[in-house]
Amino acid sequence: MSFLIMDTQKLKSYVKDFKWTRSIKQLHVHHTWKPDHSDYNGSNGIALQTAMRNYHVNTNGWNDIAQHLTLLPDGQWVTGRDFNQDPASILGWNDGAFCIEMLGNFDAGFNKFTGQQANAMFEFCAFFVLQMKLDVNACVKFHRDNPNAGKTCPGTGIERGWFMNTLNEKIKESSNSSCAEEWKIRAVDELAKAGLLNEPLMWKQKINEPMPVWGVLILINELFTRFSEKK
Ligand SMILES: [Zn+2]
Repeated sequence: MSFLIMDTQKLKSYVKDFKWTRSIKQLHVHHTWKPDHSDYNGSNGIALQTAMRNYHVNTNGWNDIAQHLTLLPDGQWVTGRDFNQDPASILGWNDGAFCIEMLGNFDAGFNKFTGQQANAMFEFCAFFVLQMKLDVNACVKFHRDNPNAGKTCPGTGIERGWFMNTLNEKIKESSNSSCAEEWKIRAVDELAKAGLLNEPLMWKQKINEPMPVWGVLILINELFTRFSEKK
């Protein structure tokens, strides 16, 4: 199987269009530890992924690379194991799991989890949680959450509370904006321009709420008056 490299936008469409034959119950978060940021040169994502697969298959004796995705330091993603196969992710929790390896060593004092890499992680995880209808606080697992892990993974530099708060914020943001499609916003702007709506910002914030009866009546009255004047 050949690996694909893509940005977060492309990956989201890829996941949406993917023909899932298993149901996803958990999202697992890891760091690769080795390779780390110093091994990435901006164009060797596939080579690093291939080296990881070779290690997992030849040394660990697994039937494929462990993870479904590797997140590169510049926010690009590399596909790994078939999404319809359980990963070799967290012992005892692999059934229905989806496994992300973030390339880096995020133990305190080593690489920093920040910038494009962190943005891509939160954006994709927020999308994935919504797409798979996961209970975020119960279903997003750090490797070290498993009492038998015996690891700091995804690194002592990433505090779970902070990670989950940021992810929850991002989920709130994406669920709001995915409902406020561009055409709805445009309609508010046009009506405001025509003088039929005051306070467009207020209407945009309430874009998916029902229109109050008085609002509908005032709008109809305003339209009626205008058309009457034109005659
Ligand atoms: Zn791990």
